[in-house]
Amino acid sequence: MKKFLSLLLSVCMLATVVAVPAFATEAGTYNGTAMGHAYDLTVAVTVDADGTITDVTVTENGDEADGTGISANAIAVIPGKIVEEQSLTVDSVAGATMTSEAIITATSEALTAAGADPNAYCADMADPEEEGDKTQVEETTDVLVIGAGVAGLTAALSAKENGANVIVIDKMPYAGGTTNSAGGILVCVGSELFANNRLDSDNLEATLAYWEDHMSYSCMDSGYPDMDRLTDVLASTGSTVDWLVANDVEFAAEPYSASTSYPMALANGGGAGLINMLVASTTARGVDLRLNTKGIQLISDSVGTIVGAMAETEDSIITFHADSVVLATGGISQNEELVEKYSPKLHRAGLVPTSAVSHTGDGLLMALEVGAGTFDVFSTPLFSQIVDPKLSAITDTSALTIYSQLGVNANGNRFGNEAASAGWDTMDYTASDMIQDGNAPFWYIYDSSDEAIAAVLEAGVEAGIVAKGETIEELALSMHVYTASLTASYADYSAYVAAGEDIQFGKDAAFLKAIDQAPFYAVKVYPTTFGSAGGVTTTADGRVTKQDGTVIPGLYAAGEMSNRYFYNENYILAASLGLYSTMGRRAGAAAAADALAK
Ligand SMILES: Cc1cc2nc3c(=O)[nH]c(=O)nc-3n(C[C@H](O)[C@H](O)[C@H](O)COP(=O)(O)OP(=O)(O)OC[C@H]3O[C@@H](n4cnc5c(N)ncnc54)[C@H](O)[C@@H]3O)c2cc1C
Repeated sequence: MKKFLSLLLSVCMLATVVAVPAFATEAGTYNGTAMGHAYDLTVAVTVDADGTITDVTVTENGDEADGTGISANAIAVIPGKIVEEQSLTVDSVAGATMTSEAIITATSEALTAAGADPNAYCADMADPEEEGDKTQVEETTDVLVIGAGVAGLTAALSAKENGANVIVIDKMPYAGGTTNSAGGILVCVGSELFANNRLDSDNLEATLAYWEDHMSYSCMDSGYPDMDRLTDVLASTGSTVDWLVANDVEFAAEPYSASTSYPMALANGGGAGLINMLVASTTARGVDLRLNTKGIQLISDSVGTIVGAMAETEDSIITFHADSVVLATGGISQNEELVEKYSPKLHRAGLVPTSAVSHTGDGLLMALEVGAGTFDVFSTPLFSQIVDPKLSAITDTSALTIYSQLGVNANGNRFGNEAASAGWDTMDYTASDMIQDGNAPFWYIYDSSDEAIAAVLEAGVEAGIVAKGETIEELALSMHVYTASLTASYADYSAYVAAGEDIQFGKDAAFLKAIDQAPFYAVKVYPTTFGSAGGVTTTADGRVTKQDGTVIPGLYAAGEMSNRYFYNENYILAASLGLYSTMGRRAGAAAAADALAK
């Protein structure tokens, strides 16, 4: 809220130095543009001659390309509120703050263009925190869970099952966080679900071997994954799935199987289905779920035991007195400052997070304040790669996924097998290559032999997003990479294509196709991540520990809040939900046991 208020202040104060009369507007429709989450957002604002705002419409939203649909929440609400309240001091939409801010800033710009003074639309602005007009509320429960994703809801279900009264809060207007957008596939070693299937209970070893192999592609000396912790938690994932089934969570009858060889269960309805079933299951069993309620601070007693947490809603500050508090707020990948601090390599590489916007590290920051241990460097396991979101924002880029393009880094040098991401088994190679210093964002180079591809790229050229050249030398100039490096990479690659063998990186011959029809195009590609791997240190049953390994009484964590143990720098299919629900179940059980023992 503070950040949002500062935006309003700057919108309004900026307006005060613009010497225009408040309501001397020229009736009509005016445009304004402001930066949203990563890209520009434009509004068309219609005003009457007396300054009444009759319509605000978002005409362009570059952030649509992030695929999360989160900005849509602000677009659906903020323009209407501005018109209804004739004010720029409307409340932001939780989870879509940056889009909310962009709409307001852009509207302010449009009003200025109309000859109005935006300050006149800020008249009733007041800081509720300064005013102290929020109601102070006190509540008591055995277990408070902060965060209602897969980890939080499984923790709540488990705590309830173990006899505790449980409240779950989530800062968003909906439960589910990143889990909502997940495929809903859970690694599950030893589940009764597939007892008669070839992927049955006895392949813990195969799963571990696969895991270790895929995690070993980069940063070999990181010390992670922690194989003891991983083995322990993986071995329980099957029984967690069986427990979920017993609690009315439904899965597909057959194991989910891609090109991997470890057992995976697919929740009915995917990640969103999993959340819906968990919400139904927990609330039916008496868990009290509160949305739009943000955890802001842990409360500890004089000896450092956690005895509750403070939370905030639109109109109240709640002090939750709780014997146990479970942190399940997800990771840090949407908090640029924290990514820069804990995952500098990814930050330099231009990481594009695909996690929920709510992954701003709130739980980590709260836990650090009470002395929780953390990890020097987080890994931000790479998920995949993404074509420049600016291009996806203006056209469908699916035609570009052909694997026969040439990939070069920011210096014009080829650095890996461009077809590695053609399968889950091998995507890790490309992902790891991408984040080595100097490689990302990198470029994919195409020729114009395929009309569909050329059409997509031409659209990008027109928008100034895609580089183009009649020759490779011209292309290098347009890309701003070293001509000598690019022409050498191109010549070597063309020789491999002619020979039918890539002696440099072993690209499958099926993907070795000539790139020789001018004009040539180059588009930027960025690494993406499913979330972050780090958080706070815990025991194997989810009790949060200090840096010295001693337990902080009353505090528990699960999910991306505490997941460094499971990953190095790569990610493999379904590598989260089974582990996080197992850790959620354990943390909830420990939280309930400790609370009831008090
Ligand atoms: C596109 C995509 C597909 C994926 N598919 C799979 C898959 O099929 N299988 C798999 O295993 N993994 C998958 N993953 C990874 C997996 O979905 C996530 O790692 C996992 O859902 C994280 O769970 P969580 O409970 O830690 O966080 P979340 O599910 O994000 O829950 C955290 C919750 O905490 C809330 N919160 C945050 N701060 C506060 C606060 N201060 N107060 C109150 N609430 C707060 C958030 O709003 C959110 O609801 C996928 C990831 C992505 C991005």
